[in-house]
Amino acid sequence: MKKRLLIANRSEIAIRIIRAAHKLGIIAVALKSDKDPDALYLKYADEIISAHDGLNEKPVFLDAPLIVKLAVENNIDMIHPGYGFLSENPEFAELCVANNLNFVGPSPELIRNMGLKTIAKDMAIKAGLPLVPGSNGPVKTEADAEINASLIGYPVILKAAAGGGGRGMRIVEKPEQLKRNFKSATDEAISAFGNGDLFIEKYIQNPKHIEFQILGDKYGNVIHLGERECSMQRKHQKLIEEAPSASVSTEMRSEMGEMAVRFAKSIGYYSAGTIEFILDEDGKYFFMEMNTRIQVEHPVTEMVTGVDLVDWQIRISLDEQLTLSQDDIKIEGWAIECRVNTEDVQNRFSPQTGLIDRISFPYGDDIRIESGVENGSIVTPYFDSMIAKIIVKGIDRNDVIKKTLSTLDNFNIIGLKTTVPFAKAVLKHNDFVNANYTTRWIDQTFNPELLEENEEEMIGALAACIMYASEYLQLSSDIPAYKPDRLNVWVLNKRLTY
Ligand code: ADP
Ligand code: ADP
Ligand code: MG
Repeated sequence: MKKRLLIANRSEIAIRIIRAAHKLGIIAVALKSDKDPDALYLKYADEIISAHDGLNEKPVFLDAPLIVKLAVENNIDMIHPGYGFLSENPEFAELCVANNLNFVGPSPELIRNMGLKTIAKDMAIKAGLPLVPGSNGPVKTEADAEINASLIGYPVILKAAAGGGGRGMRIVEKPEQLKRNFKSATDEAISAFGNGDLFIEKYIQNPKHIEFQILGDKYGNVIHLGERECSMQRKHQKLIEEAPSASVSTEMRSEMGEMAVRFAKSIGYYSAGTIEFILDEDGKYFFMEMNTRIQVEHPVTEMVTGVDLVDWQIRISLDEQLTLSQDDIKIEGWAIECRVNTEDVQNRFSPQTGLIDRISFPYGDDIRIESGVENGSIVTPYFDSMIAKIIVKGIDRNDVIKKTLSTLDNFNIIGLKTTVPFAKAVLKHNDFVNANYTTRWIDQTFNPELLEENEEEMIGALAACIMYASEYLQLSSDIPAYKPDRLNVWVLNKRLTY
């Protein structure tokens, strides 16, 4: 009997998981939300379960009891949570297990321990990993925070113990800023994670974010698949990622990789997972946290190792033994991922919602597109603004930068603004070309003047003028009226059709 896998997520990652399920001969079942009823991923699924989550209720992807109820009613064997949403929620994993559903991920206990960064840090110390100086566990009061911060030395960073997705974090430069930030970070952590606990770390100036991908099975075998450089961040959220990292030498890779494996083994980890490190200006690295799920940027690792991470993640949860050994993992070439978010870069990356009139992706050798949208898709305010990822592989770093730039040139969208012009500006910038960027780069160096003039916007403005003039002046009928379609053809082909 074929297994039935329910995907408790949406958009591009749902399509990615459906593809992995099909490769394994597994039936892929998708959840349909009222907030995204015509989504592209639904077309790829073998079966669809309508969740009837209503426009004003929380989306089904956040509703653990509803997902489990629907799974049981529909004879589901396994649940893949994707990333975000419930992927790192131990209660959800527990509920799955209690209902005989195979949760594609590690055990609820591992998720719980790694989800609380203070516990994860304790376990990392025990495994001998270097840590950023910080408070010993959560700081309960402002006064406690003040004492810890002055011992650690300013600047410090307040972080939510249960944090994720860059939320519940505040950089505090001076003592007088502590009180205000303590309150706002606590409030944000309560509303985002239902847990207001904060801890404090030394704020590392101009750091790089380096993370190691690992795979472990249920029999104690663990390997690492090298690192990803994820320092191009805005508000602690990644925008462009690469694998490998230009800041990691071969020796460092094996040292950090071995450390990641040692940590994973020490906690009995299985499934795909990521161990995040922060690298300071002197090249010293510190354990930051572990993510117990597949990550948004997993494709760059797949591109340079040739290993299908989602395939392994599912196979491991089906009790398969890892047949890859550390020696089988070879890093070949260089890969870059650009997240395509519907955001107006000119306007402080404000989210854009509405109709994607037209969208077309480039294709070619070594180009991988992971998209959750198509022509006519509607981007709603209910979900994350990431609509696609453009991943490119080259023979080396210079090659992949050039290739990614020409790939991005052949991406077209009409209707909404995206982060693609931002990605182009970054890839052309000397700091990126020289791999001389840190997590502060966007704050310190990026400004909208680095963006190229937006051709589509100019054409849009011109079209509006033609339309206005032809309607208002009631020009003779042999001048064709403005039709969005014809204009789109013009934009897409970059030529005049009339
Ligand atoms: P999340 O769970 O939200 O991903 P992380 O602990 O991984 O939280 O931190 C997210 C980002 O915040 C990191 O990638 C890094 O850019 C920044 N950051 C976290 N801790 C520090 C620190 N001690 N010093 C400087 N930057 C930090
Ligand atoms: P990672 O740590 O994997 O690099 P993020 O922290 O950016 O990535 O990823 C987690 C985020 O993904 C969550 O904040 C959530 O809002 C978002 N998310 C979850 N599912 C989706 C989806 N289908 N499409 C886009 N974003 C999603
Ligand atoms: Mg993180």
